Amino acid sequence: MAQAPLDRHNRPLGVLRLSLTARCNLACPYCLPDGQEPPGLLTLAERLLLVETVVDLGVHTLRLTGGEPLLHPDLEALIRALAPLRQRPKGDRRGRLRQIALTSNGTLLSLERARALRQAGLERITLSLDGADGASVARMAGLAPSAGRPTTEGPAALGPGGAELGTEDDTNNTSARGEALLARVLAAIDHARAAGFDPAAGELKLNAVITRHGNADQLLPLAALARERGLELRLIEYMDVGNRNGWDPAQVISAQEMVARIGARWPLEPLGRDCHGTASRWRYRDGGGLLAAIASISAPFCGDCNRLRITADGLAYSCLFAASGTDLRPWLRPRVDRDGLLEALGALWQQRTDRYSEERSLTITATTSGSMATPGSMANHAEMAYLGG
Ligand code: SAM
Ligand code: SF4
Repeated sequence: MAQAPLDRHNRPLGVLRLSLTARCNLACPYCLPDGQEPPGLLTLAERLLLVETVVDLGVHTLRLTGGEPLLHPDLEALIRALAPLRQRPKGDRRGRLRQIALTSNGTLLSLERARALRQAGLERITLSLDGADGASVARMAGLAPSAGRPTTEGPAALGPGGAELGTEDDTNNTSARGEALLARVLAAIDHARAAGFDPAAGELKLNAVITRHGNADQLLPLAALARERGLELRLIEYMDVGNRNGWDPAQVISAQEMVARIGARWPLEPLGRDCHGTASRWRYRDGGGLLAAIASISAPFCGDCNRLRITADGLAYSCLFAASGTDLRPWLRPRVDRDGLLEALGALWQQRTDRYSEERSLTITATTSGSMATPGSMANHAEMAYLGG
């Protein structure tokens, strides 16, 4: 087994965010993933080999993401195939793969699927929901008023079962489609819970991206929705990532402001941020559970970042904000070169110097309204595989 490497800032590798697909059945305007898969998608066997390799390099947590990972037919098969990596060999003090988590928009999480995922070995699910009413959900999910049903390919298509989100008659009724989407995500929460994902054990959480002009008015309704269901709500600062989201710093609401607004309604007690974690957490003083915020823009946490990202087509990124990745396919095709892959990934990590978020020429100016301003221009980034549960 290889020695677990440290990067140039002495950070170990700990988390792999693996994207299964670049496609999504929603078109959240802050994300806008590709409508089509890139050529050369990894196979199940190749993904398995990649996970085995990074586990040898110190990865203990796998976060499956996308695009929308529930669109991928091999999701359960991949989790099942990882079972041997879950067992800790006797005397191995580094341990093996300790946790598998999934981040999903929930639209395709039926009770059967939730049970199948649990049975396969999935331990955590984070569902994304950016509003608590139909109009807000529709706006944040990119369910724009349209002249017709979305196609089944590409963003804004709702995928299998999507027809439930609207009939020909109400296609133009964005709010009704948003209500249907909200109902579907709320059902997904129930399905995950029924399948054994326990929010009290941190196995089921809610992600929400908040933008100043998109859904800032949803902060309290979302907090109420999460509190009622015993879910930890993770508020995510709107980030300069994605393919073509036209990031506008004026749209960013800082974690501090978001938490202050919720804390003014339901007083909070700070719990801090775990080492290597992305989220700072708070406890509601009235016993209403936990709140978390991910302050990648206003308070970056590069110092102890232990995350590697691999896209659906096999590009490895050692930073969420990296502009270019390392293509791992030469070690996978046409023949598998296990030793070469281990060496390449180990070298990638050892050479890692990324501290983009801390180093960006970003002047965050808290205006009276608390909005952000920056003189810096932001890089455009390839497909995302980030922000797990
Ligand atoms: N489709 C799945 C979902 O929405 O949960 C998984 C992939 S999505 C890229 C993972 C998470 O990233 C979601 O919680 C989403 O809200 C968040 N996200 C996407 N674009 C973002 C951005 N520009 N800033 C902050 N968070 C973003
Ligand atoms: Fe799809 Fe998730 Fe991006 Fe929304 S955030 S468009 S659900 S991949």
